[in-house]
Amino acid sequence: MSREKPILKFLNDHGLTGARRDDEPMSPPDSRRNRVDWDRIRSAFRPSRGLDIDESREVKLLNPQHVHQLMGDFSDVIGNEPNLLETNCSSAGWDTCAWHQSMHHFGSDWGIFVRQDCIIEHARDIGRFLVRGTAATPALIERLLLAGFYSLYLHEEFHHRVESMGIRLEVASRKPIYCPYKDRVYRPTLGSDDNLEEALANANIFYRLSHSPYRQVLGRDVFQATRAYLWWRFQFDPPGYRRARDYVYGDRFDEGRSQLAAQIQEADLRPKQDASPWNIVRDMNTGLFRISDRVWEVVSAPGKPPLFP
Ligand SMILES: [Zn+2]
Repeated sequence: MSREKPILKFLNDHGLTGARRDDEPMSPPDSRRNRVDWDRIRSAFRPSRGLDIDESREVKLLNPQHVHQLMGDFSDVIGNEPNLLETNCSSAGWDTCAWHQSMHHFGSDWGIFVRQDCIIEHARDIGRFLVRGTAATPALIERLLLAGFYSLYLHEEFHHRVESMGIRLEVASRKPIYCPYKDRVYRPTLGSDDNLEEALANANIFYRLSHSPYRQVLGRDVFQATRAYLWWRFQFDPPGYRRARDYVYGDRFDEGRSQLAAQIQEADLRPKQDASPWNIVRDMNTGLFRISDRVWEVVSAPGKPPLFP
């Protein structure tokens, strides 16, 4: 049985939910939601080989109309040196391009939302980090679009992991954990380098992309281009987000995750406890649900078909 309903009931019964805030990202007016069919992507994935990376093949997973329309545009930028002025890094922030609606604040309308226009922008920028001269075949454009989508999704996936941890702690302690953390630590530090959750959400993209199935689906060239893009772009991200580079390598991601767990438990930016034991229970931070069932592509241009059919 799905755990969703019992958890929503638990949160309501124990007064653990919070009010929605006006400044939180929401779907633009007149936009449409299209559920991303994760199983369709998975079904095209072969564990030993990844996607069948044959550059002559036709588009398999995404809407061919989009892919063919983008070929000319993308071929102009593939392999070109990145230029901040030519990209949308400064304006199209991670959490405006995609967002996580928590169960605590949105009830049954929880999930991850990713804007179609941002998937395309990110994909184009990732293309800049391919080897110059790489042919813009439909198959390559498709993999770049998936890379753009995965990048935005994996950032938001980390926010879902944080909420999942909050729910586990609330079930164990029967007291509010997630909303106090959001109110006393996350929101007051948003926009500053003290915001650890956003640094780790960005680092999560870098870290998780190398796991299955993302790396195999993207193929070696697009995987490497995506990581190079992320490493380059993090430095231009707003305070907090830009600290992702500090948490990418070695044990730093685990250390950051432990520190964040202590912040969540105490709802304090500078928790008094020794954070290191959280590393023993790293799976506290795994998602409580199959989040891939709750991912939507948000299409705001009238008449535009979704990327994910
Ligand atoms: Zn975020």
